Amino acid sequence: MSTRFSPITLILACFGLILQNFTFAAGQDITAQVKIDEKTGKLAVPGRLSPNAAKGFRRNIGFIRTRQNILQISEMTALGNDGRPVNLTKLSPTEWVADADIVSWKYTIDAQAALGSEIRAGNSWLRGIHGVLMFEDILPAFGINGVPVSAEIEIKMPEGWKLFSSENNVRNIIRTADLGNSVAAVGSGWESANVRTSAGNLELIRMGSWGPSTEEMSKASAEIFNNYVDVFGSPASENGLIILTRRSSPAFDEWEAEARGSTVIIASSDATLPGLSIQRLHEQLRHEIFHLWIPNGVDLTGEYSWFYEGFALYQSLRTALQLNRISFNDYLDTIAKAYIVDVGVGQRRTLLELAKDRNERHGTELYARGLLVAFMSDVALLQRSRSSSVENLLREVFKKHHRSASAADGNTAVLGIMKSRRELVPIVRRFIEGSEKADLSDAMKAAGLRFEADSGRQMLKVVEKPSGRQRAILDKLGYNNWRKSRKYQNEN
Ligand SMILES: [Zn+2]
Repeated sequence: MSTRFSPITLILACFGLILQNFTFAAGQDITAQVKIDEKTGKLAVPGRLSPNAAKGFRRNIGFIRTRQNILQISEMTALGNDGRPVNLTKLSPTEWVADADIVSWKYTIDAQAALGSEIRAGNSWLRGIHGVLMFEDILPAFGINGVPVSAEIEIKMPEGWKLFSSENNVRNIIRTADLGNSVAAVGSGWESANVRTSAGNLELIRMGSWGPSTEEMSKASAEIFNNYVDVFGSPASENGLIILTRRSSPAFDEWEAEARGSTVIIASSDATLPGLSIQRLHEQLRHEIFHLWIPNGVDLTGEYSWFYEGFALYQSLRTALQLNRISFNDYLDTIAKAYIVDVGVGQRRTLLELAKDRNERHGTELYARGLLVAFMSDVALLQRSRSSSVENLLREVFKKHHRSASAADGNTAVLGIMKSRRELVPIVRRFIEGSEKADLSDAMKAAGLRFEADSGRQMLKVVEKPSGRQRAILDKLGYNNWRKSRKYQNEN
């Protein structure tokens, strides 16, 4: 992000016992400390707004409500322009209103009481000797929604603890251009491994004995990450971090995964079957690592989850085929299942409408039709030219909007790129802008596929004798890939 403020150094006034004199960072909207007390499980968070940050929004201290937990915040105090305390009125457990502009603040979060009740992928938590801090949760939300807030955050940890973050980190001071997308793992028990990537730096850390070995996890992450570097043409960011942790709940087969900024977090319990555990981890990694590029690596705004979820599901399948992690039948089976979901939908809405709906934007209907749109697009592109595919489309979206000069609307950008390919125009019109039921007939004809009833379910199969043209498309989709590999046969 560009530096919006001229370099300035201020020495802050002493603020209670916790806020020491610390230097105001040049150009950061927020300067803060997070001080972790291992014994009480509390975080003390003093901080300060730069003179030009959040103008017009300095009379509120509010926190984003995380999906599962309500933060337990106490001892909230704030100082104004003149260095005197500002009167605060508590509106809710996570919101205060001030009677003058706020310059600095101080509060305490009882991390173990609220955040630490369950280890989750989507919010901060702290349990015993380790935790994950998502700065969006633990720092107040200032300014306009969606506008990145830059910050310098010093993490003060107990003796022996280490900090891991994909953000710029010098001696536990994190500098980030986008506070909301910054994550750090802290603790004394993380096992770490450098992932061997073809480009960019990727670190993997894990906590707790569950699932595959760290070596297996690191190998799986490397092959997936490298595959996406090939698809997109470059890494999404200079550094990436994968955090793998056991869930605190004793139940089997429960997991959560999230990609935030350049960090992937997977919180998982044990699998009922040992073989499932590596397979499931692969699936989670394929999906979440995709998100490091889209949407996290592009400057696209608005509600376009139909694209980044549908195409993440589809490209994850394609990658799995390329890496011989699934068979071609598994690939076809997933598409058939999505088709059954889609044609069963009664009250139909367009993908654009579904993506706008808070309750539906991550729903089954959107995922299923998004996946089918990606599949239909892939075959249509391959049919027109063997050197084109859904991967070229993804690469174009990434290249055009990665570190672009200004943010663009996601739907306008993606639909523009799709419509610039003549063969995708009907797909956009009928199944994205329109609400027609998915119609796979063109794709099936082109690729030599047919539906077959098997135990009362519609299965997608390759026709008996595909034509030369159909075989060429099947090959591009990965039909022959797994057959060539002894590895897949050994594993299955
Ligand atoms: Zn996703």
